[in-house]
Amino acid sequence: MSEQSSSLMNSVTPCSECQAGHMHRQYIAYYTWLGDELITVPDFPAWVCDICGRCEYDENALTRLTLLLSPNAGKNLSSNLRLRKRENVKSKLQRPSQPE
Ligand SMILES: [Zn+2]
Repeated sequence: MSEQSSSLMNSVTPCSECQAGHMHRQYIAYYTWLGDELITVPDFPAWVCDICGRCEYDENALTRLTLLLSPNAGKNLSSNLRLRKRENVKSKLQRPSQPE
C-alpha cells in the first residue's frame, strides 16, 4: 500500500485519523514552553478535521517557529512574540526626564 498525498496544490487533505473527514486550514492558539516562559502564538496555522476534530499543527510553521525560538536565531527574532509580552508589561509608562 502506498499513499500518494503529494498534491500540494490542494488545500484540503483527507484526515489520517478517521479517513472520512478532511483537514481544513485553520488558525488556532499554539502554546509551547521556551525555558521557563510559556510562549503563546494566537494565530498559528494548523489543520483541523471537520469530522473527528483531529488537529495537526502546520509543519512548516512549526519549523519556522522553532527556528525563531532557538537561541541561535535570537538575534533574528523579528516576530512579534516578544513584542506581545512587552505590551502586557507596558501598562505604566515611564516619563522621560529631560533636564532643562
Ligand atoms: Zn478526522
